[in-house]
Amino acid sequence: MDRNINILILNDINNNIIRFLRKRLPEIFNSSVTVSKHIIIPSYLFNCDKKKYDGKKVLKFITDNITLKEVKNVNIGIFDRDMFSGNLDYTFGLASLFPKIGVVSIIRLHPHFNEDYFSRGLRKRKSGKFPLFVKRLSMQEKNIYYERILKETSHIIGHTLELGHCENKRCIMAPSGTIMDIDQKDIIFCSRCRNLI
Ligand SMILES: [Zn+2]
Ligand SMILES: [Zn+2]
Repeated sequence: MDRNINILILNDINNNIIRFLRKRLPEIFNSSVTVSKHIIIPSYLFNCDKKKYDGKKVLKFITDNITLKEVKNVNIGIFDRDMFSGNLDYTFGLASLFPKIGVVSIIRLHPHFNEDYFSRGLRKRKSGKFPLFVKRLSMQEKNIYYERILKETSHIIGHTLELGHCENKRCIMAPSGTIMDIDQKDIIFCSRCRNLI
Protein backbone atom coordinates (compact mmCIF):
# COMPACT_ATOMS: atom_id res chain seq x y z
CA MET A 1 0.00 0.00 0.00
CA ASP A 2 2.39 2.75 -1.12
CA ARG A 3 -0.17 4.94 -2.82
CA ASN A 4 -2.01 7.64 -0.92
CA ILE A 5 -5.23 9.25 -2.03
CA ASN A 6 -5.68 12.77 -0.68
CA ILE A 7 -9.18 14.21 -0.52
CA LEU A 8 -9.34 17.98 -1.06
CA ILE A 9 -12.42 19.67 0.34
CA LEU A 10 -13.40 22.42 -2.09
CA ASN A 11 -15.52 25.13 -0.47
CA ASP A 12 -17.94 23.39 1.89
CA ILE A 13 -18.67 19.70 1.78
CA ASN A 14 -20.77 17.89 4.36
CA ASN A 15 -18.46 16.14 6.81
CA ASN A 16 -20.39 12.87 6.59
CA ILE A 17 -19.63 12.67 2.85
CA ILE A 18 -15.90 13.09 3.48
CA ARG A 19 -16.01 10.53 6.29
CA PHE A 20 -17.82 8.08 4.00
CA LEU A 21 -15.21 8.48 1.22
CA ARG A 22 -12.37 8.15 3.72
CA LYS A 23 -13.83 4.88 4.92
CA ARG A 24 -14.66 3.34 1.54
CA LEU A 25 -11.85 4.45 -0.82
CA PRO A 26 -9.02 2.46 0.90
CA GLU A 27 -10.66 -0.91 0.14
CA ILE A 28 -11.37 0.02 -3.50
CA PHE A 29 -7.83 1.22 -4.27
CA ASN A 30 -5.83 -0.63 -1.63
CA SER A 31 -4.47 2.79 -0.67
CA SER A 32 -4.27 4.94 2.38
CA VAL A 33 -6.55 8.00 2.34
CA THR A 34 -5.91 11.42 3.88
CA VAL A 35 -7.96 14.61 3.94
CA SER A 36 -6.40 18.02 3.29
CA LYS A 37 -7.27 21.58 4.07
CA HIS A 38 -10.17 23.36 2.43
CA ILE A 39 -9.47 25.09 -0.84
CA ILE A 40 -11.81 27.97 -1.63
CA ILE A 41 -12.61 28.02 -5.34
CA PRO A 42 -12.81 31.68 -6.36
CA SER A 43 -16.03 32.94 -7.91
CA TYR A 44 -14.18 34.31 -10.98
CA LEU A 45 -13.96 30.71 -12.21
CA PHE A 46 -17.75 30.83 -12.50
CA ASN A 47 -18.96 31.37 -16.07
CA CYS A 48 -21.99 33.67 -15.94
CA ASP A 49 -23.25 32.68 -19.41
CA LYS A 50 -23.22 28.96 -18.70
CA LYS A 51 -24.12 29.46 -15.02
CA LYS A 52 -21.54 26.86 -14.12
CA TYR A 53 -17.92 26.69 -13.08
CA ASP A 54 -15.34 26.04 -15.78
CA GLY A 55 -14.09 22.56 -14.84
CA LYS A 56 -10.73 22.93 -16.60
CA LYS A 57 -10.03 26.17 -14.76
CA VAL A 58 -11.04 24.60 -11.45
CA LEU A 59 -8.60 21.74 -12.11
CA LYS A 60 -5.86 24.23 -12.99
CA PHE A 61 -6.60 26.28 -9.85
CA ILE A 62 -6.27 23.18 -7.65
CA THR A 63 -3.01 22.23 -9.40
CA ASP A 64 -1.61 25.70 -8.69
CA ASN A 65 -2.72 25.65 -5.06
CA ILE A 66 -1.69 22.27 -3.68
CA THR A 67 1.49 21.96 -1.67
CA LEU A 68 4.65 20.18 -2.81
CA LYS A 69 3.92 17.46 -0.27
CA GLU A 70 0.39 16.96 -1.56
CA VAL A 71 1.46 16.75 -5.18
CA LYS A 72 3.02 13.31 -4.52
CA ASN A 73 -0.43 11.86 -3.79
CA VAL A 74 -3.41 11.21 -5.96
CA ASN A 75 -5.43 14.35 -5.14
CA ILE A 76 -9.17 14.33 -5.56
CA GLY A 77 -11.21 17.50 -5.02
CA ILE A 78 -14.85 17.21 -4.01
CA PHE A 79 -16.82 20.18 -5.27
CA ASP A 80 -20.42 21.13 -4.53
CA ARG A 81 -20.98 23.36 -7.59
CA ASP A 82 -22.03 22.62 -11.15
CA MET A 83 -19.24 22.40 -13.77
CA PHE A 84 -18.96 22.37 -17.55
CA SER A 85 -15.97 21.37 -19.66
CA GLY A 86 -15.24 22.65 -23.18
CA ASN A 87 -18.25 21.84 -25.35
CA LEU A 88 -19.80 19.60 -22.74
CA ASP A 89 -22.79 21.31 -21.17
CA TYR A 90 -22.01 19.73 -17.80
CA THR A 91 -19.51 17.29 -16.38
CA PHE A 92 -19.46 15.11 -13.26
CA GLY A 93 -15.68 15.22 -13.06
CA LEU A 94 -12.32 15.89 -14.68
CA ALA A 95 -8.86 14.44 -14.20
CA SER A 96 -5.24 15.20 -15.01
CA LEU A 97 -2.45 12.60 -15.03
CA PHE A 98 0.62 14.76 -14.33
CA PRO A 99 0.20 15.64 -11.51
CA LYS A 100 -2.51 13.17 -10.53
CA ILE A 101 -5.41 15.47 -9.73
CA GLY A 102 -9.13 15.07 -10.17
CA VAL A 103 -12.22 17.07 -9.37
CA VAL A 104 -15.72 15.67 -8.83
CA SER A 105 -18.83 17.83 -8.90
CA ILE A 106 -21.41 16.24 -6.61
CA ILE A 107 -24.32 18.59 -7.20
CA ARG A 108 -25.91 16.60 -10.06
CA LEU A 109 -25.56 13.42 -8.03
CA HIS A 110 -27.98 14.74 -5.43
CA PRO A 111 -31.34 12.92 -5.67
CA HIS A 112 -33.21 16.24 -5.54
CA PHE A 113 -31.11 17.95 -8.18
CA ASN A 114 -33.31 19.91 -10.51
CA GLU A 115 -31.66 22.12 -13.10
CA ASP A 116 -34.46 24.72 -13.25
CA TYR A 117 -34.61 25.14 -9.51
CA PHE A 118 -30.89 25.65 -9.25
CA SER A 119 -30.69 28.02 -12.26
CA ARG A 120 -33.39 30.18 -10.70
CA GLY A 121 -31.38 30.34 -7.51
CA LEU A 122 -28.26 31.19 -9.49
CA ARG A 123 -29.82 34.22 -11.12
CA LYS A 124 -30.24 35.68 -7.65
CA ARG A 125 -26.78 34.75 -6.50
CA LYS A 126 -24.22 35.59 -9.17
CA SER A 127 -21.40 33.73 -7.45
CA GLY A 128 -23.15 30.42 -7.96
CA LYS A 129 -23.92 29.85 -4.32
CA PHE A 130 -27.20 28.16 -3.61
CA PRO A 131 -28.69 25.81 -1.05
CA LEU A 132 -27.95 22.24 -2.13
CA PHE A 133 -30.07 20.44 0.40
CA VAL A 134 -33.53 21.68 -0.47
CA LYS A 135 -35.21 18.83 1.36
CA ARG A 136 -34.13 16.24 3.84
CA LEU A 137 -33.06 13.01 2.20
CA SER A 138 -34.71 9.72 3.10
CA MET A 139 -32.33 6.94 4.16
CA GLN A 140 -32.71 5.32 0.73
CA GLU A 141 -31.99 8.60 -1.09
CA LYS A 142 -28.98 9.21 1.10
CA ASN A 143 -27.59 5.78 0.20
CA ILE A 144 -28.10 6.47 -3.52
CA TYR A 145 -26.44 9.88 -3.21
CA TYR A 146 -23.42 8.58 -1.30
CA GLU A 147 -22.98 5.61 -3.64
CA ARG A 148 -23.05 7.93 -6.67
CA ILE A 149 -20.40 10.12 -5.06
CA LEU A 150 -18.22 7.08 -4.32
CA LYS A 151 -18.64 5.73 -7.86
CA GLU A 152 -17.82 9.03 -9.58
CA THR A 153 -14.91 9.73 -7.23
CA SER A 154 -13.50 6.25 -7.93
CA HIS A 155 -14.02 6.76 -11.67
CA ILE A 156 -12.08 10.03 -11.65
CA ILE A 157 -9.31 8.55 -9.48
CA GLY A 158 -9.16 5.72 -12.07
CA HIS A 159 -8.53 8.33 -14.78
CA THR A 160 -5.69 9.90 -12.77
CA LEU A 161 -4.20 6.38 -12.63
CA GLU A 162 -4.22 6.37 -16.44
CA LEU A 163 -7.28 4.17 -16.91
CA GLY A 164 -9.44 4.97 -19.93
CA HIS A 165 -13.12 4.19 -20.34
CA CYS A 166 -14.29 0.58 -20.15
CA GLU A 167 -16.89 -1.16 -22.33
CA ASN A 168 -18.23 -3.14 -19.38
CA LYS A 169 -21.25 -1.10 -18.25
CA ARG A 170 -21.04 -2.46 -14.70
CA CYS A 171 -17.39 -1.41 -14.34
CA ILE A 172 -16.55 1.78 -12.46
CA MET A 173 -14.61 2.93 -15.57
CA ALA A 174 -17.65 2.75 -17.88
CA PRO A 175 -18.33 6.28 -19.24
CA SER A 176 -20.56 8.39 -16.98
CA GLY A 177 -22.36 10.80 -19.29
CA THR A 178 -25.67 10.68 -17.42
CA ILE A 179 -26.86 9.89 -13.93
CA MET A 180 -28.36 6.65 -15.34
CA ASP A 181 -24.88 5.55 -16.43
CA ILE A 182 -23.66 6.04 -12.88
CA ASP A 183 -26.60 4.21 -11.31
CA GLN A 184 -26.01 1.28 -13.64
CA LYS A 185 -22.46 0.69 -12.39
CA ASP A 186 -21.24 -1.40 -9.50
CA ILE A 187 -18.68 0.02 -7.11
CA ILE A 188 -15.94 -2.25 -8.46
CA PHE A 189 -13.43 -2.35 -11.28
CA CYS A 190 -13.84 -5.18 -13.78
CA SER A 191 -10.92 -7.65 -13.71
CA ARG A 192 -9.27 -6.03 -16.78
CA CYS A 193 -9.27 -2.53 -15.22
CA ARG A 194 -8.33 -3.91 -11.81
CA ASN A 195 -5.16 -5.39 -13.32
CA LEU A 196 -4.15 -2.00 -14.70
CA ILE A 197 -4.15 -0.09 -11.40
ZN1 LIG B 1 -14.55 9.11 -17.47
ZN1 LIG C 1 -13.39 -2.06 -16.62
